[in-house]
Amino acid sequence: MTDYLVETDPGYDVERFGYNLSVEHRPEVVVPAASVDDVIAAVRHAALNGLGVAVQATGHGPSRSADGQILITTSRLDGITIDPVARTARVEAGVRGGALVRAAAEHGLAPLNGSSPEVGVVSYHLGGGLGILGRSLGWAVDHVRAIEIVTADASLRRVTATEHPDLFWALRGGGKGNFGVVTALEIDLHPITRMYGGGMHFAADTASDALRVWAEWTRTVPESMSSSVLLLRLPDRYLLHVRFAYTGSVSEGERLVRPFRELGPITDTVVEMPYSAVGTIHAEPTTPVAFHARNTMLESLDPLAIKELLRHAGPSADAPYLVELRHTGGALGRPGLVPSALGRRDGQYVLYAGAAASPAQLPELRGAFARLFTAMSPWSTGGVCVNFLSGPDISAVELATGYLPGDFDRLAAVKHAVDPHDMFRTHHGRA
Ligand SMILES: Cc1cc2nc3c(=O)[nH]c(=O)nc-3n(C[C@H](O)[C@H](O)[C@H](O)COP(=O)(O)OP(=O)(O)OC[C@H]3O[C@@H](n4cnc5c(N)ncnc54)[C@H](O)[C@@H]3O)c2cc1C
Repeated sequence: MTDYLVETDPGYDVERFGYNLSVEHRPEVVVPAASVDDVIAAVRHAALNGLGVAVQATGHGPSRSADGQILITTSRLDGITIDPVARTARVEAGVRGGALVRAAAEHGLAPLNGSSPEVGVVSYHLGGGLGILGRSLGWAVDHVRAIEIVTADASLRRVTATEHPDLFWALRGGGKGNFGVVTALEIDLHPITRMYGGGMHFAADTASDALRVWAEWTRTVPESMSSSVLLLRLPDRYLLHVRFAYTGSVSEGERLVRPFRELGPITDTVVEMPYSAVGTIHAEPTTPVAFHARNTMLESLDPLAIKELLRHAGPSADAPYLVELRHTGGALGRPGLVPSALGRRDGQYVLYAGAAASPAQLPELRGAFARLFTAMSPWSTGGVCVNFLSGPDISAVELATGYLPGDFDRLAAVKHAVDPHDMFRTHHGRA
């Protein structure tokens, strides 16, 4: 086999830890892949020795531990090739969203990236890809043209709508760590260079009003306006952060965000900006933590729902987690041109709650999550946003709610055909 690391090697720890420390991998072998041949060699070795194979790009979305398996890390597969005429990018497995945004911007183009520049492009797409421009351009996964993947038989396949179409369907929405090691994606880029975007912070005294205004406002804004809200209790204060990304004119953008300015935010960074600055809007933390989260899709956010949410996570509550609401709908509610496993597209918002927690704090956090999500269940579609599921708590039953009835079984059938011995077993779909 190619170069690899075992527990006693220096470098083993650096390679096995990723961003989210809620899952600790103790693999038998770590393979820091620097080429597709390295991936093929690792898969062949796993097949010969009956080992499982897990993949890690950045560790932002781990499922369960890869103990005793081969862990292939992909950060060295960092190639990006842009075709500015066809408006496509070929992106290797270790590329992060921020690197792709920067490379595309050099050609006046943009990918359908998510909020964090640190997240891996490949897995973000395999889980659907709820992007900053999603409401106007749809799920990122609908803009995947081709997938290069090393499957359990140690062969490299190119998978498209016409080559291995069942696998193409399954990988797009159901492909995280499940069917093989995706070595590269070919995706569409979009001619977007500027936007009116940024965020506004509200202090405790205006936070509840800002949330009420946002919920009402999201019912009328155009699809070219994407937004989200973060409810955050810091040790010394409470903050609500409203984030905007609008691809229409600056004057129309100013008009659209005026109701929030009139509430008196304590910070306001909403300006015309190059699209390449998109990662500054959410400005998510980058220090590794043991993070636990739950989510559900909401059908609506009526005044009663807001009241309930504030009761659990508002300025006078003592929530041990942060809450984020992302406005979905628009193009995110419509089917893609080529059907994919990401068929469930109902709901108008993602409700997400998360917190860093030590093992000792987990029972209390789980209880608090349960109270919040039970209280909000009258507004839930019963579904989840697959990409926001991470950590060891996620069950196959919960994962299945992210898909249309029947599609989860179809995913299992594709899995059986492509990976009959369950080599790729470190994913949420395991019962
Ligand atoms: C701060 C933060 C912000 C986020 N923002 C968004 C957002 O705006 N929109 C959105 O849709 N999602 C978002 N996510 C979720 C994120 O897209 C998923 O967690 C994604 O799976 C992370 O991929 P990764 O490669 O960075 O992480 P990893 O933990 O390295 O990978 C996640 C899983 O994907 C699988 N995987 C990784 N690489 C491959 C590969 N090459 N082939 C096959 N399987 C692979 C592995 O099984 C792994 O367990 C966010 C997550 C975080 C932590």
